[in-house]
Amino acid sequence: MGQGPSCATNDENGLFRAVKLGDLETLRTEIDADSSILKQTTLYDRESLLHIAAANDQIDVLSSLLDRSMNPNLLNRHKQTPLMVAAIHGKISCVQKLLSAGANILLFDSLHRRTCLHYAAYYGHSECLQAILSAARSSHVSASWGYAHFVNIRDGKGATPLHLAARQRRPDCVHILLDSGALVCASTGGYGYPGSTPLHLAARGGSLDCIRELLAWGADRLQRDGNGRIPYAIALKHKHGVCAALLNPSSVEPLVWPSPLKFISELNPETKLLLERALMEANREREKKILKGTAYSIPSPSHSDGGADDNLSEASDAELCCICFDQVCTIEVRDCGHRMCAHCTLALCCHNKPNPATASLNTPVCPFCRSSIAWLAVAKGDTNDDNGGDLSCPRLRRSRRSWNLTEGSSSFKGISTVGSFSKTATHGSGRILINEWVDKTDP
Ligand SMILES: [Zn+2]
Ligand SMILES: [Zn+2]
Repeated sequence: MGQGPSCATNDENGLFRAVKLGDLETLRTEIDADSSILKQTTLYDRESLLHIAAANDQIDVLSSLLDRSMNPNLLNRHKQTPLMVAAIHGKISCVQKLLSAGANILLFDSLHRRTCLHYAAYYGHSECLQAILSAARSSHVSASWGYAHFVNIRDGKGATPLHLAARQRRPDCVHILLDSGALVCASTGGYGYPGSTPLHLAARGGSLDCIRELLAWGADRLQRDGNGRIPYAIALKHKHGVCAALLNPSSVEPLVWPSPLKFISELNPETKLLLERALMEANREREKKILKGTAYSIPSPSHSDGGADDNLSEASDAELCCICFDQVCTIEVRDCGHRMCAHCTLALCCHNKPNPATASLNTPVCPFCRSSIAWLAVAKGDTNDDNGGDLSCPRLRRSRRSWNLTEGSSSFKGISTVGSFSKTATHGSGRILINEWVDKTDP
């Protein structure tokens, strides 16, 4: 059998089916009988066995094929590699296997001139995105292309992976890319021509979380696209009301992650997580102010401003922040060892969107002893460690969230709409202090 063209097609189908279903036995038998079948591709799309294994998450088949020294960079009809296919389908183990087999991350397909990084971002597969970025960090890419160049690589229409993630409503990928050095104000225009920024595309996509991330990394609400529109106008046009409210240039500026500060770039992951969470919470408080009195409410869960008295009694067993008297100390300043909560730390470090005229960023000092901050660490040790030693779940969260969950009563909603400035609770002065700190940075 297998003489005529029709029979050959049947054999082919059998082979591809075996790869698709992960039938290693059949595959081995066929390859042992005729190793040339490793070069076979599907008729129309010219998918290799590796492409099919990658698309269907058949990691054992993929490994076995690569062990037979199959070229990991075979191209299909659209010049897509098996790595691109795995990234499109979000098959993380296949992505990792292909990367470790030396798959080239710098290849562009012929469809949109996109790389594997574009595809992982477009389809929102954050694990795959991370894996590709770590491969880029450790491989020759950093040396030849430069890591920053790779992160900001453009497709055929000038879009970076960040543009695609923002357009496709992929906040996790947006975050990872920004954290990896993606340019928040990159324009699809290139070479000085006006184009769309990631914020324009997020406004079009209507993802509030993407917009929050971009604004917190300093995206410019006033940048105009090729048609002269600001992101606000695009959100309005596409009827994304809440997004438009945040993008409205006359609304309060959000806090921006203080990435230029040296000790911020050197944070350990644990401390960074705490501060990032505090940044997002602080910005959500600002969102409440912005959305107050509009027809919109924030659809995602956010914190009630009420219940601080309860919080005080609950948190009194832990070390309370001496600046705001509201939150538990989670951050320790080194070398002096003074402690404060993540919110106050951020208020100290954050700056608003850099104003070109006043771009210089003052390095903050410890508010207690005025000594310079060498680095920030998660406060540990002599505070009562009553959360089971889970350091990724600090008391800050427990104390705030637990009372939010138990108090859904209308009276607290009433308090929360008053706003934090008018709070007259016993520890209100601390509150006002921190808000002054924060708002002092407004232009
Ligand atoms: Zn505090
Ligand atoms: Zn100090």
